Amino acid sequence: MNNLLTKHILKESKNREDFRKILLTWYGKYQRELPWRTKPSLYKTVVSEFMLQQTRVSTVLPYFANWLKKFPSFTALAKANEEDVLKGWEGLGYYSRARNLHKLAKTISPLKSIPKDAKFWLTLPGIGPYASAAITSISFNQAEAVCDGNVVRVLTRIFSHGELFKDGASAQKKLQPLAQQLLDTTEPGNYNQGMMELGATVCHRQSPLCTTCPVLSYCTSGQRGDPEMFPALAKKKKTFEKIKRYWITRDNALLLQRAKTGTNRLAGIYELPKDIESEVKNKKNLLAKKRRVIGQTDYEESIYQFSLHLNCDLDKHSLEWISWDELKKITISGPHRKWIEEIRRLFAEQNFQ
Ligand code: SF4
Repeated sequence: MNNLLTKHILKESKNREDFRKILLTWYGKYQRELPWRTKPSLYKTVVSEFMLQQTRVSTVLPYFANWLKKFPSFTALAKANEEDVLKGWEGLGYYSRARNLHKLAKTISPLKSIPKDAKFWLTLPGIGPYASAAITSISFNQAEAVCDGNVVRVLTRIFSHGELFKDGASAQKKLQPLAQQLLDTTEPGNYNQGMMELGATVCHRQSPLCTTCPVLSYCTSGQRGDPEMFPALAKKKKTFEKIKRYWITRDNALLLQRAKTGTNRLAGIYELPKDIESEVKNKKNLLAKKRRVIGQTDYEESIYQFSLHLNCDLDKHSLEWISWDELKKITISGPHRKWIEEIRRLFAEQNFQ
């Protein structure tokens, strides 16, 4: 038995049974209606799990609907070319997820029968312990417990477990055996979703709704009134980076830079150019200054208007002239598309005045 369990009321198997029943009943009654839950299928579950990594449900919803229209099955996705797949993902970020999902579809679609065990799923592109447990428990009723950030929050609070974890991933790894012991093996998919739903909708990071929580009577920190102390995660060092971006136009086109293929997380995606100082001249205006956070880095990106030297080697810097009409068709990183639209509007208004 897990050490944490031995000191808790959930050490009694009867209490664990009751806890599972309460959670399953609550989930049955209060779960959010989400498109991957209504008429579920393996494909919908897999797509939603890929999209939800590092991304909020509210952000995912429109993308999920469009994706299903464009690629309704593993077979349709497997047949698509990479350009179309990336375009369908445009704006969701972390494009390696789209590439891995594409590769996974190519592996899965020719199979006569799809293996149901978590070990097989772990061998597929983009699938780690969390995703394999989520997919196989939800789609195949496999007794595999998930332990994501929401589950970590719920468990550390229920057990008032104050261990300082170096990051979320190590907390998930450490608490997975406990999650496994609590799992309802008759309804693992619903139980897993219930735990995650509880973390997402009741056991909030700040101001959790303990008074209406279905498992309050099993939760040590909820009863004590100090749930926000858990989980204890080491503070990560933030870094700050300034980036200079270039707005260069000619006739009816904008100069964009396409990240090289390979390991680059943005491989194949277009952005406003950077690192081309030697190729530009005639600095004009600062058009915009943008802040955004990626992981632990706080970026400040300044977009300046410049002209390009006539002898600039476009290929060397992966630069391409993209006509305004073509902009719609290519895959541009989400924030950059917004910035481009904003700057074009700015110019349109100035010309108008
Ligand atoms: Fe979270 Fe409060 Fe429920 Fe405990 S009682 S699981 S802290 S919402």
